[in-house]
Amino acid sequence: MKLLRYGPPGQEKPGILDRDGRIRDLSGVVSDIGPETLAPASLDKLRRLDAATFPAVTGTPRLGPCVARVPKVVCVGLNYRLHAQESGQPIPKEPILFMKATSSISGPNDDVMLPRNSKKGDWEVELGIVIGSKAQYVAEADALKCVAGYCIVNDVSEREFQLERGGNWSKGKSADTFCPMGPYVVTTDEVPDPQALDLFCEVSGQRMQSSNTRDMIFNVRQIVSYASQFMTLMPGDVIPTGTPSGVGLGLKPQRFLKAGDTMRLGIAGLGEQRQRVVGPA
Ligand code: ZN
Repeated sequence: MKLLRYGPPGQEKPGILDRDGRIRDLSGVVSDIGPETLAPASLDKLRRLDAATFPAVTGTPRLGPCVARVPKVVCVGLNYRLHAQESGQPIPKEPILFMKATSSISGPNDDVMLPRNSKKGDWEVELGIVIGSKAQYVAEADALKCVAGYCIVNDVSEREFQLERGGNWSKGKSADTFCPMGPYVVTTDEVPDPQALDLFCEVSGQRMQSSNTRDMIFNVRQIVSYASQFMTLMPGDVIPTGTPSGVGLGLKPQRFLKAGDTMRLGIAGLGEQRQRVVGPA
């Protein structure tokens, strides 16, 4: 299933993509695509229904972030070898985890707004894991049972805030609109192998990132198990799993986002995002 949320910001309704790629209104069945709806029993119930029987949504509404009320966003850093190299960092021996503020979450095609005093805005296409059931000290063998599905995340970053202003990475990862999520959560039954997905990012029409999730250093199973040793993962949590090489920080010369740029990101089977970059409010 491809579950999504559509409508104006803050007033999104739950929806599902039918076989013909049309949005169907799910609000008669679930209140939202949030933690409760992503639980295994709830997804099983939805799977037994015929999407074609739900009301078709007319027009092309804005899409909201594909998960509502995300409890936390736990990110994995430097999870592709070439990206660690281009960042001038050693290959991690254990997954690097950092947090991204949930207030940064935005719709997949919403504008990305550079924060005030930003000089080094950057792009990061990532496979996002969406947690469906509570995971605490979960073994690798059981880790995928806790996953509801996957989505695209653009882990938008401000490199000066992240790397030159002291402390940890959170300051460079958490500005409003720095976490476009969606267009949909694709449930695990439609993603038989999360480690075999092509992913790409284009900036203003130029292909900057092009890789496959098989190149991850730590795979989805390992990441979920590892993170759950340090914090309890809750339904609705999202884990962006790291970005491949080709970010602006790693280019020679470096290139950073400016107002007027556009980003287009895609992952095989998970759809595409498109954002316009705008200056600070
Ligand atoms: Zn990232």
